[in-house]
Amino acid sequence: MRASEIRALFAVASRPEVVSLAGGMPYLEGLPLDVIGEMAQRVIATRGTTALQYGSGQGDETLREQILEVMRLERIEAHPDDVVVTTGSQQALDLVTRLFINPGDVVVAEAPSYVGALGVFRAYQADVVHVPLDQDGLVPEALEDALTALAREGRRVKFLYTVPNFHNPAGVSLSAARRPQILEIARRHGVLVLEDNPYGLLGFEGEPLPALRSLDEDGVIYLGSFSKTFAPGYRVGWAVAPHAIREKLVLASESAILCPSNASQLAISAYLATCDWRGQIKAFRELYRERRDAMVGALAEHLPRATWTVPDGGFYTWVRLPEGLDAKAMLPRAVTARVAYVPGTAFYADGQGSDHMRLSFCFPTPERIREGVRRLAGVISSESELVDLFGVAPGDGGTSIESPSPDLA
Ligand code: PMP
Repeated sequence: MRASEIRALFAVASRPEVVSLAGGMPYLEGLPLDVIGEMAQRVIATRGTTALQYGSGQGDETLREQILEVMRLERIEAHPDDVVVTTGSQQALDLVTRLFINPGDVVVAEAPSYVGALGVFRAYQADVVHVPLDQDGLVPEALEDALTALAREGRRVKFLYTVPNFHNPAGVSLSAARRPQILEIARRHGVLVLEDNPYGLLGFEGEPLPALRSLDEDGVIYLGSFSKTFAPGYRVGWAVAPHAIREKLVLASESAILCPSNASQLAISAYLATCDWRGQIKAFRELYRERRDAMVGALAEHLPRATWTVPDGGFYTWVRLPEGLDAKAMLPRAVTARVAYVPGTAFYADGQGSDHMRLSFCFPTPERIREGVRRLAGVISSESELVDLFGVAPGDGGTSIESPSPDLA
């Protein structure tokens, strides 16, 4: 294991004078906190002996039924027995990886991929093979080629890890046309699909696309989460898995944590039962759409030599820097200029990505986003001048992101 690039960043980026376009924190001021507070109080006062007690390893049954209702919005039909409640979808990623991966086994994942998943895969010594994505998500032909090449080499591919909606960090979604293609390729190669979907309900236009799990019950493990559509602090996510895998997931979860927090589950269950959660998701979508607009508007105004994805939902845009710039080397200078981002290298297992950065638009206000992009543009333009003069950007003087220098920390 090693410190992720995001982890060390938080120490500096959380200072108030820094505009952080780095973290993926939802904007919780958008929630009716007084109502949620009263609800939590009521849960303890009226159901305290359950809420504060150990519970089922698989998760509270009422909540599992409510989760089915949430998933119906993405056309998933399942039974409460198919659902395993986890401590955030991060724990589900850990459990699935623990079940399937022996050191040296292959996980196929998008290029780029969610940094937290890569950390899990690394911890279990999986060998991550990246497959490119484009504007329409994972490229089917590239997946076919990668799986064929791996089969020829006799490599054991345990699963395909994919974030089909509003990808972290790329901001793109897998098109409706590609969904059955990806599933067909995975099925033909005997590869399980791990569908990680925390952002699927946060689309800015139209209806959610059908989940991969809705198109294939046997070949997909689906991961969901309340972190982005409600609140990450309760740490409640879930997995939906084919029967045999689901039983093993429960055993693995019990050995890790005995059971997910009953207090959290009952609070979320009460929220789903008594609050207008669909209305809240709609409000979040509108809030994040406005921030996305602020982000892409500011990028168009200030970064003429960069390119970026324009996400239709979620939290992130993926920016390609002008030729010759290195996002990781540039980060200390950006933080000195009071703006933070995550360098693209965090999202690859193999050191690619230095020409990219992830910018998140979920937490800062539109005004702060515009200010952050203005500051970033200043850093990029002085960096570009150096590249034009000397052919390369200066290194980072030995300052690694894992241990920021004192003037940055
Ligand atoms: N998957 C993806 C793609 C994410 O972006 C995140 C959070 N950043 C997670 C999983 C983990 O979320 P949680 O554990 O809060 O459900």
